[in-house]
Amino acid sequence: MLGKRPMQDMFDIQNRVARLRDNINYHNHRYHVLDAPEISDGEYDLLMQELQALEKDHPEFVIPDSPARRVGAAPLEAFGSVEHEVPMLSLGNVFDHDGLLAWHKRVVGLLEGAPTDFVCEHKMDGLAVSLLYENTRFIRGATRGNGLRGEDITQNLKTISSIPLLLPKDAPDRLEVRGEVYISRVGFAKLNDDRAKAEQPLFANPRNAAAGSLRQLDSRVTAKRPLDICVYFGRGQLPAVHWETLQYLKSMGFKINPHSSLISNISEAQDYYNRWLEQREDIEYEADGIVIKVNSTSLQQRLGSVGREPRWAIAFKFPPIQATTRLLDIDIQVGRTGSLNPIAVLEPVSVGGVVIKSAALHNQDDIARKDIRIGDIVVVQRAGDVIPQIVAPVTSKRTGAESVFKMPEHCPVCDSAVIRSEDEAMSRCLNANCPAQGYELLKHFVSRNAMDIRGIGKSLAQALFETELVRDVADLYYLTEEQLSGVERLAEKSIANALASIEKSKERPFASVLFALGIRHVGEETADVLVKTFGNIDGIIAASEDELLAIDSIGPKIADSMVSFFMQDDNLMMIERLRQAGVKMESDAGQQGDLPLTGQEYVLTGRLEMFARKDAQVRLKKLGASTGSSVTQKTNYLVAGADPGSKLAKAQKLGIEVLSEDDLLRILNRYE
Ligand SMILES: [Zn+2]
Repeated sequence: MLGKRPMQDMFDIQNRVARLRDNINYHNHRYHVLDAPEISDGEYDLLMQELQALEKDHPEFVIPDSPARRVGAAPLEAFGSVEHEVPMLSLGNVFDHDGLLAWHKRVVGLLEGAPTDFVCEHKMDGLAVSLLYENTRFIRGATRGNGLRGEDITQNLKTISSIPLLLPKDAPDRLEVRGEVYISRVGFAKLNDDRAKAEQPLFANPRNAAAGSLRQLDSRVTAKRPLDICVYFGRGQLPAVHWETLQYLKSMGFKINPHSSLISNISEAQDYYNRWLEQREDIEYEADGIVIKVNSTSLQQRLGSVGREPRWAIAFKFPPIQATTRLLDIDIQVGRTGSLNPIAVLEPVSVGGVVIKSAALHNQDDIARKDIRIGDIVVVQRAGDVIPQIVAPVTSKRTGAESVFKMPEHCPVCDSAVIRSEDEAMSRCLNANCPAQGYELLKHFVSRNAMDIRGIGKSLAQALFETELVRDVADLYYLTEEQLSGVERLAEKSIANALASIEKSKERPFASVLFALGIRHVGEETADVLVKTFGNIDGIIAASEDELLAIDSIGPKIADSMVSFFMQDDNLMMIERLRQAGVKMESDAGQQGDLPLTGQEYVLTGRLEMFARKDAQVRLKKLGASTGSSVTQKTNYLVAGADPGSKLAKAQKLGIEVLSEDDLLRILNRYE
């Protein structure tokens, strides 16, 4: 038995490393790609520190694509991708004075006593971008992406008025400037205010709002967002020290951070940190720490970088804002898609000036991992986030009266059995008629980006549901004045208003309708792509999982969720009733037949060298063509690859035009 122990321990460590990586990758994706983090930055840092420590002690478990060795997440596929001429590194972190001193000691050691001063800056909580200028013109802007490649967001960056589009004549021929795009506290409050009024979902924090705004495919949307930038880096013919580079960039018309400070020794960095930590809530934007940089550019070059981090700069993070309070209970909210979401009910407590009464708990695993029990005193944290998190229970304060939370086995709203699938931590109510889901779906359906039915606000939606006048969203289109007048306290004018806006929603484009259906994982962008690819609801319903996966931006999660949505009779019936009511179920482009290949049927056969077959089919469909699997009288063209077999013979017999792969490529290139 004793002999087996060390093996078991190693096994445990290997498991832990693998779990940490999965976890970090997951949260990385939530943060960088989806802009919807589930955990605070502080919690994320803890995971990363643990992984880094384990990988350092156990190099045998290190793999090349471990998240500890890369800088963020892959770019979204919707934007063009840009290779950074010089990688955009991310900063190493320290969390206390000792960490800062250790960094300083290392720098001094590597410089062998060469004297240096430092620049202290705020670590602004925004999004790093690169701006490229040639012959004084702004020619390209990109996100950091994974540090090596980012997304081309030139059009969106051009909408930020603090980014100069033209530099003075004496600017370097070629200049790269980097900075942080952010939204101020005031701008953020106003943005969310406007969204609340429009019944749009609120942004969790300014960073997410900034990231979401920069990633808009439609730059007109970006232009309406209160984005700003402070630059902190330049590459080109520039002064030999960082501090002067900043002043020079300022003279070129760039906005630099007014709170930066030139210091001559490291103890002043600690003072700078203390001063701003005290005032952090008063800064006009959110900052999660300070950055200390070696001032001399030649010394920076001598120090170089190690892995993903430069040696010449370090981030000194502010502690998250925390408080302790009692966890009174755990409530379950049933989401629109049937997910059972545990919500912590807290004894009200003030955290950094905001009274917190509830916190998100994510899922059963999360609660179990943190060992949070009902009745516990818990540490609550707001770290740049508006949504508070429970960090940990204070186990020393347990009395024994606490109870372990268990996810209910039945939906708290409709009492149907709850299912928890193996690949996700969420429990779900699968009852399509569950009122909670119906009500949530109704709210989503009428919202501005979906069907935009403004005559139906939250309270009317609730009333319609409770009176069972609307059981699914299709019922909306069959409401009568008489039925509505039976709803309590509804004025005549409101009735007319509701009916008029329901009628008007029939003009909403098909992509909005598809989004409004509330299919899990199908957001506005995905709905757009689907409409462009398939043109109408029948094509989308008929699409196989493989066909869906052949589309660039659609992964297994979306494909899976779509296929199971359209497998349910209730959903198909609802769609049919919507269609009969006059709701758009095809794109206007499809109706007008103005796609270049509309009405043409292509059949592909044989081995294609230049395309994956699914790919070619999807591209043809995007241009309006249909693709068949066998040659019939209806077939217009047969595309024959190598070893075409019987279809070629049949096409020749029917006199159908046969195309080569080259021909197909020419057609696609002509119209795409
Ligand atoms: Zn239910």
